[in-house]
Amino acid sequence: MTAGNSNIEVAVALPVHHTFTYSVPSFLSPFIAAGKRVLVPFGQRRVTGYILGSATETEPAEIKHILDVLDQEALFPSSMVPFFQWISDYYKHPIGDVIKNALPGGLTLYDYASLTITAEGNAALTNNTVTSLQRAVLNLLESGPCRLKHLSDRLNQNVPGALIQSLQRSGWVSKTRELRPASTKTRTERQIALAKSIPSQDRLSKARHKIIEILRQQGEISMPALKRQVPSATRLVRALEKDGYLIVRHKRIYRDPFGETIRADTAFDLNAEQQSVVERVNDRLSQGFATFLLQGVTGSGKTEVYMHIAAEVLKQQKSVLVLVPEIALITQMERRFRARFGERIAVLHSGLSAGERFDQWSLILHGKVDIAIGARSAIFAPFPAVGLIIVDEEHDASYKQENNLRYNARDLAVVRAKRNDCLALLGSATPSIQSYYNARSKKFIEINLKQRIERRSLPAIKIVDLRESMGYRGVRRFITPELHRSMKDTLDRSEQVLLFINRRGFANFVLCRSCGQALRCKHCDISLTYHQKANALRCHYCGFSRAATTSCDSCGSSGIKKIGLGTEKIEATVQKLFPKARVARMDRDTTTRKGSIFKLLKGLKDQSIDILVGTQMVAKGHDFPNITLVGIICADLSLSFPDFRAGERTFQLIAQVAGRAGRGASPGRVILQTYNPDHFSISAAKEQNFISFYKQEINFRKTLNFPPFSRMIQLKISGKDQQRTKDCAATLGNLCLSLKTSNASVYASVEILGPIESSLTKIARRYRWQILLKGTRASALHQFVGQLMANNPAVFNRRRVRVVVDVDPVSLM
Ligand code: ADP
Ligand code: ZN
Ligand code: ZN
Repeated sequence: MTAGNSNIEVAVALPVHHTFTYSVPSFLSPFIAAGKRVLVPFGQRRVTGYILGSATETEPAEIKHILDVLDQEALFPSSMVPFFQWISDYYKHPIGDVIKNALPGGLTLYDYASLTITAEGNAALTNNTVTSLQRAVLNLLESGPCRLKHLSDRLNQNVPGALIQSLQRSGWVSKTRELRPASTKTRTERQIALAKSIPSQDRLSKARHKIIEILRQQGEISMPALKRQVPSATRLVRALEKDGYLIVRHKRIYRDPFGETIRADTAFDLNAEQQSVVERVNDRLSQGFATFLLQGVTGSGKTEVYMHIAAEVLKQQKSVLVLVPEIALITQMERRFRARFGERIAVLHSGLSAGERFDQWSLILHGKVDIAIGARSAIFAPFPAVGLIIVDEEHDASYKQENNLRYNARDLAVVRAKRNDCLALLGSATPSIQSYYNARSKKFIEINLKQRIERRSLPAIKIVDLRESMGYRGVRRFITPELHRSMKDTLDRSEQVLLFINRRGFANFVLCRSCGQALRCKHCDISLTYHQKANALRCHYCGFSRAATTSCDSCGSSGIKKIGLGTEKIEATVQKLFPKARVARMDRDTTTRKGSIFKLLKGLKDQSIDILVGTQMVAKGHDFPNITLVGIICADLSLSFPDFRAGERTFQLIAQVAGRAGRGASPGRVILQTYNPDHFSISAAKEQNFISFYKQEINFRKTLNFPPFSRMIQLKISGKDQQRTKDCAATLGNLCLSLKTSNASVYASVEILGPIESSLTKIARRYRWQILLKGTRASALHQFVGQLMANNPAVFNRRRVRVVVDVDPVSLM
């Protein structure tokens, strides 16, 4: 930043969409740098803001001074500012909050009000005009200021706001705002060294002598290290320091989130396919931005390819960012990278404490590491010079953040790579339709790994038609004789079984047991969802509704059945069928506690679990060689999601979960149970043929104008009051309609679907509605929402009904 200009551009950590200009008093100007936090006056409050750079415009209006600079060092490199601005603009999210989301937690300072007694207040205590409650408050404050929030607790009785106001009016107390220090502190360790010239040692005790000897021989040493040699060091060091023998410094240390020691490995000799892929990417390394899409079957050695390319990037003094969809997989990736690249790795994910995350962030910021591995938020890792951004399992829906700042880290990887003029490398066995379409249309460069390592075969997939087991009763119907037999054989060989059922807690869907068809919307070809209260079937895209029927549209059979079946029921049934087997379950309910996923994975690894029942969590890239049977209980559950991506998800899930089988020496087997054996998602997954799946799916998308042929933005409306929420949705719907008609030529391509009630009609006591905006022209769609928000700030900032903008929504429920 130039020294001459004393105005800076600041993004405040508040829900406002634009930035503000502040001036810098001269005593603070030496401390100004982009990426630091400042304290600024904002209305009646003082708030934290982030310096983005010099102010570009000199506003004629009165410009306020900043009050303070909060950081000694910048929290992010200034090169990230345009990236943050792009995100704010694209995701329609306040810029200050974008930055707050990007930074590790625990940094933001909070304002709070506190009460202090005045001289008049002291005087008032001596006369009798005060009420007893007033007296109690004043008495308390005599011993020091008190936070307003704590007053009632400290007095053990309710202190009404009116009473505080009366005290203020009388001039007996004053209210001030103070700052609470950030809760994240860096951890330091005492480092002990000898003083330059030390007093005589003649009269020192033996132990003190020993300490001085150690320091003489070993130089500066940390307190814990010293204590290992002299257990009573803490006390002795204090005394020695006081007498001028020692110098004690507090030195910053980094908390290490990794426990286990990892032995170094050496790179494999790549096979020919891997070699050619690595060469193609490496050839592009110094030629600026490009995105590669690596489509490689499960077990084809993608990670090895990542590591070879990463090594090349590190040679060029640039850093590598590796995104992995979830914590358990991060650990696996980290272990392999650490074995190869040693200590120069930072890890970022939600399993770390705020302090640990802050430390990892600092390592990256200070150039102590050149590789960062993490979940979606690692896309914000503050590397000044990124050379490569890898997104493993790029199809995974968990790259999408579903609250607050609703971004997709996979998409941001491409955006950041473009801004950094470097490479993005997206990898998956089952790429998203979106990414593969980009490869087909030459936006991305496609590279392939078609064979498993050592030519291991992909597991054989056997389809079992659930329509044939209609005669069985209850949950038994879902452990078909075929599956039952295979499970028994597998257990007899002391091998492990994985059972997969994708059941989440949402409204039932309806399926015909004779023909396997789910009832679908005639406008959207999306499964209808059964609403029990209304006894109706509804489309969650367009709002189409029809009475619940008892007979099938396709075949006329009366075998219509609501499906509602989950992991818990399957676990219980399996345990009954195999009383001796050790059965465990992995789903959102059993993995809420920190570390519980690792416990389950460890159980699989050391084979203390025979059968694992789980949701899509188990489908993801784990590598357990002793799993030889995978059972997919009912593939139709995901196929019949009320979502245009249902086919895509089903294909991905089956191919991924099947990929868990037969990774070791013994071959794997998959039993795929379904009511729809002929559906192309299922038959393509059986052949594990991504291309044939893509070809059919892309036609469906094109016909109905779904992404990638259009873009979507969803407005999510929710509130605790049912009527108010509904009314707000209606108002917003009308605002959309009138905006469209007011500028018909520009917005012709914008379609407005809804408002309709969401599939999950109520979550956490909030009623939910939605409006889906769809457009073939991204720019028009974004302009439409931008204008809608700018024209109606009140609607988007309501207190009781929340309106959230979800750009490129993944979950439409
Ligand atoms: P993917 O990520 O494609 O599923 P991985 O990278 O996990 O595949 O590789 C599968 C297994 O093959 C791993 O155990 C890995 O160490 C091993 N592997 C990878 N490349 C080679 C190679 N060139 N030679 C021998 N083994 C390899
Ligand atoms: Zn039917
Ligand atoms: Zn519809």
